[in-house]
Amino acid sequence: MSDLITIDEARRRVLGAIAPLPAEDVPLSEALDRVLAEDVHSAIDVPPFDSSALDGYAVVAGPAAGLELIGESRAGHPEGGRLRPGAAIRISTGAAVPEGATAVVALERAEGAESVVRVEESSQGDNIRRAGEDVRAGALVLRPGTRLGPAELGAAASVGRAALSCARRPRAALVLTGDELTEPGEPLGPGRIYGSNGLALAAQVQRAGAVLARRENVPDDAGRTQEALARALEDADVVIVSGGVSVGPHDHVKGAFGRLGVEERFWGVRLRPGKPTWFGVRDGLLAFGLPGNPVSSMVTFQLFVRPALAALQGADPSATRAEAVLDEPVARSPRREEAVRVRLRPGPGGWRATTTGPQGSHILTSMLGAAALARIPPGEGELAAGERVEIELL
Ligand code: AMP
Ligand code: MG
Repeated sequence: MSDLITIDEARRRVLGAIAPLPAEDVPLSEALDRVLAEDVHSAIDVPPFDSSALDGYAVVAGPAAGLELIGESRAGHPEGGRLRPGAAIRISTGAAVPEGATAVVALERAEGAESVVRVEESSQGDNIRRAGEDVRAGALVLRPGTRLGPAELGAAASVGRAALSCARRPRAALVLTGDELTEPGEPLGPGRIYGSNGLALAAQVQRAGAVLARRENVPDDAGRTQEALARALEDADVVIVSGGVSVGPHDHVKGAFGRLGVEERFWGVRLRPGKPTWFGVRDGLLAFGLPGNPVSSMVTFQLFVRPALAALQGADPSATRAEAVLDEPVARSPRREEAVRVRLRPGPGGWRATTTGPQGSHILTSMLGAAALARIPPGEGELAAGERVEIELL
């Protein structure tokens, strides 16, 4: 691990290894948080016809007048007849404006009897929503690479789409190494700890729009590690290993990946926490060896795996990058860029960042309440309050 590379260089190598996954049709009701893989053009005008913006009377625009009431146009039930001067048609919000009508007068601006209604003055087009005012037939509504949220799903439905072409979700396999790991709920033997990375990484995988294909714990044994990695490589687009990637005699991950034909692209990032991060590829499969310390594993997932999962889906891998101003001084690390967990609050000039407390790589509670990782460049002393830093939104 003599040649440490920067975070940005590591990220370039990860993104450089990615071939986007193929697309599949997804029903709208299942497409939340999926990444769109097509241009969505509208086949129709939205609204599809001229319609009323409110409840009232469809009229021929003009001065105040007493008009004969000759029918009604309700939402979903357009009035068949044609409006003539001297007459009015009762109309509800969203109902089609009858032929011949040029304005709608609100109920509150009319005094109605059964057959005659007195309406106030109106001008051409009053309270009429024109066909295509929202979306014109043929217009581009959504672009590829868009992550589908509630508004995007609503817009796709409004133009009549029942399904959308979305990138296939990446399949991720997790392998958690360590003789000391115990599953939560089991009694804790001497020298053992509850494994937390499995749960935290699985949740990060889901948040990143990927599917957890498998999750397996393995002891610190070269053979067992290699077997588990082989199973993971069979099952997934992305293999994520926690622990066992450092320089100790019981760290077997790099060797096992090597024997399985996974080609190393980097090992060692000038980053704190997360220095021993390893990355390799085999025929389009991505393999990450993340350091086992709980904060290191979450931070390196965020910095390297999450962008990869986004890019595999055709989404912007840097969508989570932003800037903030430090609200307090932050100690610097002499040789490594530091990913400091921060809370954010909106302030003058953008986000203001405060650290979550002690920042050791084993202090998992430093992730609690963290809204972002602040990237503190290496150097002597501390970065002063008021300095602007790059952040990675969690
Ligand atoms: P390693 O990267 O395997 O050297 O592990 C570094 C530190 O992280 C050690 O203190 C491990 O006990 C701890 N660790 C490794 N895996 C996990 C895990 N799944 N959950 C919590 N701590 C872990
Ligand atoms: Mg270990």
